[in-house]
Amino acid sequence: MNAGYLIFHPTADQPLPEVSQVLTRLSETGLTGQPLPGMPQHFLTGPHFLQRITFLGCSPSVPLTANTNSDNALCYIRLLGPYPAPRLITGQNSRPPRCHGCRHRFHEWQEQIAEPDREIRCPECGQESSWQDLNWRQMAGAARLFIAISQVFPGEAVPTAGLMQTLQQGGEEWDYFYVQQPLLWPGGQNPGEL
Ligand SMILES: [Zn+2]
Repeated sequence: MNAGYLIFHPTADQPLPEVSQVLTRLSETGLTGQPLPGMPQHFLTGPHFLQRITFLGCSPSVPLTANTNSDNALCYIRLLGPYPAPRLITGQNSRPPRCHGCRHRFHEWQEQIAEPDREIRCPECGQESSWQDLNWRQMAGAARLFIAISQVFPGEAVPTAGLMQTLQQGGEEWDYFYVQQPLLWPGGQNPGEL
């Protein structure tokens, strides 16, 4: 059982960051630790994980080591991508996205997102967007590259300003969102062991 994921991503319409440099910075700042054996692009939490991510409860129950929980419940950090084109990750907790032009809510998104490459026109202001461009209010997100932290209930933890600066040292802007039981679009697949 996974409480959910906190997922970081470069914001849309930017060149892809150099992935190896991002991973090096996350390791140097102590967010990520050793790679998980036999699981490419998965990392254990690093020595300063709890200084880079602020858990809002008084005593975080996030399982950082494997010896008290099953491996399934372990908190780890996973790189997804880079993908050749933007992917959208939604979750069971995602709510209707909003038009950036007029804040119209696309209540019917779950029926329509099966065709995620289609341009959608806002019925209120007429603005054309892709699904990736809509405002998902931190309950879904689109990018070619994601860094996902497991075992985070939506809204339970926030990155420190220092961690965001570390991510943005390559010059890109980064953002984050929270999902439970994620699906990766196009295709709507469960992204494996995420
Ligand atoms: Zn609109």
